[in-house]
Amino acid sequence: MATSPHPADRFAPSACPRLVVKIGSALLVDGEGHVRRAWLETVVADIAARLAQGQRIAIVSSGAIALGAKRLQLAGNGRASLDDAQAAAAVGQIALSHCWAELLHAQGLSAAQILVTLDDLEDRRRYLNAMATLDRLLSLGAVPVINENDSVATTEIRFGDNDRLAARVAQAAGAHGVILLSDVDGLYTANPGNDPSAELVSEVARIDGRILAMADRGSASGMGSGGMVSKLEAARIASAAGAHLAIASGRRDHPLTAFAADGRGTVFLGRRSSSARKVWLAGRLATRGRIVIDAGAVAALEQGRSLLPAGATDIDGRFARGDLVEIAGPNGHVVARGLAEYDAGEARAIAGRRSEMLPEILGYAPRAALVHRDHMVLL
Ligand code: GLU
Repeated sequence: MATSPHPADRFAPSACPRLVVKIGSALLVDGEGHVRRAWLETVVADIAARLAQGQRIAIVSSGAIALGAKRLQLAGNGRASLDDAQAAAAVGQIALSHCWAELLHAQGLSAAQILVTLDDLEDRRRYLNAMATLDRLLSLGAVPVINENDSVATTEIRFGDNDRLAARVAQAAGAHGVILLSDVDGLYTANPGNDPSAELVSEVARIDGRILAMADRGSASGMGSGGMVSKLEAARIASAAGAHLAIASGRRDHPLTAFAADGRGTVFLGRRSSSARKVWLAGRLATRGRIVIDAGAVAALEQGRSLLPAGATDIDGRFARGDLVEIAGPNGHVVARGLAEYDAGEARAIAGRRSEMLPEILGYAPRAALVHRDHMVLL
């Protein structure tokens, strides 16, 4: 009888040469505002064991805001205002880095710090630059410890949560897996806090409406900014990059070894990866507008065709030619994203119109599509 692989095997050093491990604020920082050092030592021991087996690991570490907030005695875990969060992050990050460096050095490992802003990964040139740095560090056997540069990022240009940052890092690092260590142990069919029939979902092949409906908004601890919605968004980005993503509990010592042993958690399967550029496109967070399309156009996109103006029913937002837009089906679910061939005004003028009418409306020879399939990625 064929046995299905153990869910955690996908993240084992033999199957996953490069891994990203994300650690949430509630795990890193205790109620008194101190790093949970004894626990973190067990995480670092797990990481060292994996490195010894040839796996390369990048860590995405939260906790700067939570740590700094306690030291500065700020209300609301430092998240009451942007100024507070920025000040807290500046104080917390230096303490956090210090701790990581000490613990990794104690295991004979080289810690490397990278602080990124959203723009570093959204802009293609800067993204390629970050990719080269990560690649070099990993191939040298160093352990990059990455966080958002919260002290300089403003609300409009923040990742805001390290779940999505971890997925973007996985993409940039060419990682095959992401493990989100969290204060929850995975995705449940319902909220386990108030529904005793809730069950842990062990594997998700596709994030559809049913899966999205299971996500519970907000973080239980109030320390981080993640929550299940951002974890699903991270899974979507990782999956499009061909990486598997696991949500596993960090509420135990040696959490990576424990996950490898019992596989408890939720694994979102990575899809077969498309071109590197499309992967980057799928992971970009800032879209400028939305094109709503009819069911016929959804079917055409799924067959790999371009989006023609005739299939568009509504255009939202202000975008220029070349900007990233979302493409949503008639039920509002986003089915694809891509670069618009027209600006929003022109797109509105030609939405729903057949190709032969376009020269007259536009006053020039029309382009092949509203969004060309070469610049589009299905989600
Ligand atoms: N970058 C934030 C910090 O270091 C954490 C973001 C999150 O909660 O995911 O505190």
